[in-house]
Amino acid sequence: MSRWDALLSVQEHDTMVDQLVHRRAHLEARGGLEALMREVARIEATVAEVETRRRDLVRGQQRLEDEIATLTDKATTHDKTLYGGTIGNPRELQALQDEIGALKRRIGQLEDQELELMEQIEPLDAELRAASAARADLDHRGGDLRAQIAEEEVSIDADLARVRAERATIAGAVEAELLAEYERLRPHSGGIAIARLVGGSCGGCHLGLSAVEIDRIKKLPPEAPAHCEECGRLLAR
Ligand SMILES: [Zn+2]
Repeated sequence: MSRWDALLSVQEHDTMVDQLVHRRAHLEARGGLEALMREVARIEATVAEVETRRRDLVRGQQRLEDEIATLTDKATTHDKTLYGGTIGNPRELQALQDEIGALKRRIGQLEDQELELMEQIEPLDAELRAASAARADLDHRGGDLRAQIAEEEVSIDADLARVRAERATIAGAVEAELLAEYERLRPHSGGIAIARLVGGSCGGCHLGLSAVEIDRIKKLPPEAPAHCEECGRLLAR
């Protein structure tokens, strides 16, 4: 293998590594997982908002229940007094009866209010149940996607390890100085630092070299590096 063939092979391996690294970073499943995580975040925000509204309603319901309990206790105490026989005065008995009546009307009003709150809580509960089901479904799909990503990463990593090992072996056959120049050029050449000179054109930028330049390159010793006039890449020949 000539030094140029060896370096071209190093280039092919580096291109494969670049492609594998790019593929690993842009797995379709990873994009799917990111979209799914955005959906999870949206559901979590909705759940938090619904739970806040629900908590306020439940607090209101609790306050009403407390008040109903207090008034019910009071009415029960009055009932006992009324039927306890300790009060003989008809006017006092009437006043007590009136008060019990007022208490029961007030309890009735509070119970109506409580019912209204419960009716407002009901659709929120339904909303939370739906969100919880949607979340469970997303978690399940997220698990599948994560497993898929892990599997694909393992496969790509195996390919990467193989290609990198091959590359190291081949690069070992290229002189250090030439390899260093190749490494230096690569970041500035879209990852392609060496191209074949084919029919007077650079295989990297596909532009034709001048007749003078082609002639000059032909007269160079075979191991001397030549560069494309246009893109500066090394030319294999
Ligand atoms: Zn070129």
